[in-house]
Amino acid sequence: MPIPASQPSSPSSDSAAVRSGGTVTDRLIEANQRYAAAFTDPGMDARPVLKVAVVSCMDARIDLHAALGLELGDCHTIRNAGGVVTDDIIRSLTISQRALGTRSVVLIHHTGCGLLNLTEDFRHDLAAEVGQRPTWAVEAFKDLDEDVRQSMQRVRTSPFLLHTDDVRGFVFDVKTGLLREIDPQD
Ligand SMILES: [Zn+2]
Repeated sequence: MPIPASQPSSPSSDSAAVRSGGTVTDRLIEANQRYAAAFTDPGMDARPVLKVAVVSCMDARIDLHAALGLELGDCHTIRNAGGVVTDDIIRSLTISQRALGTRSVVLIHHTGCGLLNLTEDFRHDLAAEVGQRPTWAVEAFKDLDEDVRQSMQRVRTSPFLLHTDDVRGFVFDVKTGLLREIDPQD
């Protein structure tokens, strides 16, 4: 929307206006307008520069680019609840490798994950409530390290992937920001 010339506008006053009445999505749209105003097309290829795909939990406390020293264009980031390697993660990894040239896979689970507190009862309760059984598993887990191992195993044994020799798994500590590597053999 054009801003009337008689009303001076600044990013801070825009934000204040949104906070006073808009929805969170309105706030995001406002932020995007400021982003686009300063944006210049870097002219990047869609293929990630570092040829790596990072699969992580969607947890709001994990800033993957900052935590791993990644820049725009460096990697694919594929996220879901838990960072669990589901069929849809395999779908994305397959496209990542076969169409967009990635070779390495990094898996990241984390301390304090919401899935640690869930059980498959979540799925049963959901089915009872809505009268329909979800087609997906909750993939809740009690043992973080073991779940990282299982995720590594699912990637390594996928028949669809071209590259399964460089697959490493980690637990991100949300208190320290440090990654701890999980030995697939333990
Ligand atoms: Zn999580």
